This record gives sequence, structure tokens and C-alpha cells, in this order.
Amino acid sequence: MATIEYVLGDITEQEVDVIVNAANSSLLGGGGVDGAIHRKGGPEVLDACRKLRAGHYGGGLKTGQAVATPAGRLKARWVVHTVGPVWSATEDRSALLADCHHNALKVAKSLGARSIAFPAISTGIYRWPVEDAARIANAAVRDAGIELIRFVLFDEKTLNAYRP
Ligand code: ADP
Repeated sequence: MATIEYVLGDITEQEVDVIVNAANSSLLGGGGVDGAIHRKGGPEVLDACRKLRAGHYGGGLKTGQAVATPAGRLKARWVVHTVGPVWSATEDRSALLADCHHNALKVAKSLGARSIAFPAISTGIYRWPVEDAARIANAAVRDAGIELIRFVLFDEKTLNAYRP
């Protein structure tokens, strides 16, 4: 059984094998978590993302998919980039948000990672209501087959929503 932790903090400070990035499909950086990871991770992360774009991910990373790069100057070993769905009031995109978590875990396990930190994917710039994102994320990481899963939440409201 995995240990699941909920902490208030900055995902870029986590000492875990894998940090999950709430990326955008371009893989070339953005705001929120993405911007912070690229700022602290430095050029090694961006270069690896550029190489992905030049290769198999020429069209970018699709929503719900996940891909790994080295973590550069971060304390983690890898960054696993995943693209959350933008919230829609008219279309149910919950399965894509669950996919982000499933696919990030799958990539992490394929790397031999034993610990992984997730941000509150899609709840920032992509506007997903926090309570709902928390429910989907918690369900998706259940029975994950990895030793430690840590949700790193940036504010008290999000922490309280994610923590059961
Ligand atoms: P998305 O585009 O998937 O919505 P964001 O990066 O905009 O992703 O936001 C996702 C969540 O991460 C939001 O709750 C935001 O407050 C939070 N966040 C922003 N920066 C950090 C950080 N450095 N560490 C942890 N969480 C962060």
C-alpha cells in the first residue's frame, strides 16, 4: 500500500524521485507550476523538452498523457510532465484528469521511482474547481503501486480540499 501525504508547500522543493509538472501541451514552459519547475530546474529540463518536441512529440503532448525528462537542478531525479484538461462546464473531462495521474504514475514506475509528488493539476490556470479535482486525483492514485505519493498544495484551501 502506498503512503499518501498531503503537504502545504512548493513542489519545486520536494526531495522525491519524481516531480509531476502541470505542463501545457507545448512542453516549452508556461505559468504556475510549469514556470516554477523550469525556473528552478534550469536549462537541462527545457533542453530535454525541446528534444521531445523535435522527436516523438512534434505535435506537443496530448491532454492526459505524460512524459519524463531529467530534473536539472531540482532535488528530484525526474520531472514527469503531464497536461491537465482545461475545466469545462459543458463537457465532462474528468477521465482526462484521472488519466494525467494514471499516466504520470505509469511513467514514474517505468523509471523505477519509489516516490512522486503531484501538484493540484488543472486547478490553477485551467480553472478546475478544487473540490472536484481533489476527488478525482485521490481516486486516481489509489492502489498506485508506488511507495510514496505526496500531494503538494500551494494554499490552505487546496490542502484542505485534497486532504481526506
Ligand atoms: P494548471 O494549468 O494545470 O491549472 P497551474 O500550474 O496553473 O496548473 O496550477 C495548478 C495548481 O498548482 C494551482 O493550485 C496552483 O496554485 C498551484 N501551484 C502554483 N505554483 C506552485 C508551486 N510552485 N508548487 C505547488 N503548487 C503550485
